[in-house]
Amino acid sequence: MTESLDDGRVSFGSRDEIELATATDPVCGSELRRADAAGAIDVHGIVYFFDSIACRDAFAADPDRYTRPSGGDTDH
Ligand SMILES: [Zn+2]
Repeated sequence: MTESLDDGRVSFGSRDEIELATATDPVCGSELRRADAAGAIDVHGIVYFFDSIACRDAFAADPDRYTRPSGGDTDH
């Protein structure tokens, strides 16, 4: 975990702000703070965030596998 004491702009006053500040890793399904993302990839105008380089690489290797709209979702 990393903590930055000089960043005092943390505000949870708005639910929308929280929604905007977080993202779901499409590879492993983890929720992460965008500020903490290990990487991000833009696909067709949609930016995907990843919690680790491994997830980013997996996504980069086969984006369609993770961006395909519903259907075939195994709901693991
Ligand atoms: Zn991940």
